[in-house]
Amino acid sequence: MPPRQSYPLARIRILTSAVALAMAFAIASPAHASTDDFEIVFPHDPVVTNFTSSWGDSRSGGRSHRGTDLMAPKLTPVYAIADGIVTVVRDGDRSGRWVAIDHENGWESWYMHLNNDHPGTDDGKADWSLTVASGIAEGERVVAGELIAWVGDSGNAEPSSPHTHFELHRNGKAVDPYLHLRAAYELALESVISELLPAVADLVTELGSSGLRPDRPLG
Ligand SMILES: [Zn+2]
Repeated sequence: MPPRQSYPLARIRILTSAVALAMAFAIASPAHASTDDFEIVFPHDPVVTNFTSSWGDSRSGGRSHRGTDLMAPKLTPVYAIADGIVTVVRDGDRSGRWVAIDHENGWESWYMHLNNDHPGTDDGKADWSLTVASGIAEGERVVAGELIAWVGDSGNAEPSSPHTHFELHRNGKAVDPYLHLRAAYELALESVISELLPAVADLVTELGSSGLRPDRPLG
């Protein structure tokens, strides 16, 4: 048998594992979490992002955590969760470089610890073109899902892993963003799965035409 057959098999294993994992996740999680009246777009690629509920967890100086940390590799794109106007593009001691968007419906989103490093370094010396996307400035309008910035570890995230500290504010008050993020994450994962399914179907066809019997053990 020609050795090329191992190639589609390896690919189909990876794809089917990814789909199985995503399906298991979708089944294990409750129906889409309730999110009041504000539906958001997940601000990262869901495949490279991990997060847990950490609202109220204690932080240095007696503070408590007022958001959700979206853990992702440095320079992962950050997207606007909804349409709005950029109100903050600034640097702060604790927040590091951060962006805020006013969604004009009583809701605001904050994105902190954005990138300040040159790629492949932890130098903290990158200019703002490596922090926020072109055109992102105070007073500018953005749309849901628009690229606004990149993940980093600026401010007091310097000793920790890169992440976006994400906050939601409603009528000027921080609220726990976890359920909103969770619902948006599930939707984003579903769209990843639906993009994968045609590729799986193609591979099944490819395997069929390569003469492999479907009952042949893969291992
Ligand atoms: Zn945080």
